[in-house]
Amino acid sequence: MQSKIIIGAHMSVSGGLLGAAKTAVSIGADTFQFFTRNPQGGARRVYTDGELEQFNAFCAESGIQKPLGHAPYTLNACSAKENVLEFAQLVLREDTQFLAKIPGSLFNFHPGSHVGQGVEVGIELIAKSLNEAVDVNNTCTICLETMAGKGSEIGGKFSELAAIIDRAEALRDAGKIGVCLDTCHVFDGGYDILGDLDGVLREFDGTVGLGRLFAVHINDSKFGISSHKDRHANIGQGHLGLPFFRKLVRHPLLTHLPFYLETPQDSEQGYGEEIRAILADG
Ligand code: FE
Ligand code: FE
Ligand code: ZN
Repeated sequence: MQSKIIIGAHMSVSGGLLGAAKTAVSIGADTFQFFTRNPQGGARRVYTDGELEQFNAFCAESGIQKPLGHAPYTLNACSAKENVLEFAQLVLREDTQFLAKIPGSLFNFHPGSHVGQGVEVGIELIAKSLNEAVDVNNTCTICLETMAGKGSEIGGKFSELAAIIDRAEALRDAGKIGVCLDTCHVFDGGYDILGDLDGVLREFDGTVGLGRLFAVHINDSKFGISSHKDRHANIGQGHLGLPFFRKLVRHPLLTHLPFYLETPQDSEQGYGEEIRAILADG
């Protein structure tokens, strides 16, 4: 029997986490993603324990699972600048401790850009940031996002993500660190998920391990394979196409995972339509 597909979208938290969860329910989603902070800055909204209890109770009642907190884009865990690294560690620490209060939640961040220091130094710094900032006994599950490989981005190759996980030993051994696969990014990064999804999943399994795949971002891609541009398109309006996504969410190796839309929709209703199109039969 096919298990229920867990699908949702990125939601604004202008009405708080509870508001986002309610919007998710209203569009027929089972999960949602949100920014833990101002994505271009770093300021965060602080929730009282009472607010979090209310949010958790609402999720339990309405069937919302695995809310995913996305880190701000300003986080660079392998910067050459001391103050940028300090900010990255602060966010990693505070956000993973905050999310630990939400059952089943995930935290996702872009591994970072090495800006000229080289991939090896970048990987080492990201692992160090994680090891120093995160309390393995007080964290949600952490995801490194697969990247398009723009500029000096780390994480455009599965092997780079595997190397970070390998060096974040305590988190790795506790099963608290893995990967969020972004369909636009991996396609952009050169993995042919359209022509050979099974082959790409085999390659992922051989490097990171499918047991460490915790989430999937479902975005169509404005540009073709290996373009390294990172431009999301609405489902069916890019190079991947609707049939690809309908197949993806039903793939036997992936059906247990949460899927999050991050398409350039201008309304939450648009996400609802994408969800219905992906879940439609036939
Ligand atoms: Fe992202
Ligand atoms: Fe993404
Ligand atoms: Zn992207």
